[in-house]
Amino acid sequence: MKKLGTLVRIGPLRLKVETVPLIPDDLRGRMDYCDLRVTIMRMNPDAMFRTFLHEVIHAILDANGQYDEARDETLISGLAHGLAGLLRDNAWVRRFYEKEGK
Ligand SMILES: [Zn+2]
Repeated sequence: MKKLGTLVRIGPLRLKVETVPLIPDDLRGRMDYCDLRVTIMRMNPDAMFRTFLHEVIHAILDANGQYDEARDETLISGLAHGLAGLLRDNAWVRRFYEKEGK
């Protein structure tokens, strides 16, 4: 089973990532802005990755002061779905922007 990493860096943001069997309130993911922690429910890898992107997009928009957009679940779910497909289905896109020399 594929696993998510435990830390994601996005510019100055450093987000801890954890996976858990269940999240209360029927949620699949949660972004804790105080602890800078993304919590994702364990599920199939595609759903887990889309949920991870969804929570990260919340954090990116919030960190950029786009507070209204950071609460727009429809916008965020659309972006997460689109980006997941873009990354999954186009290997050249992933390779093109990788850091060299890692
Ligand atoms: Zn959300």
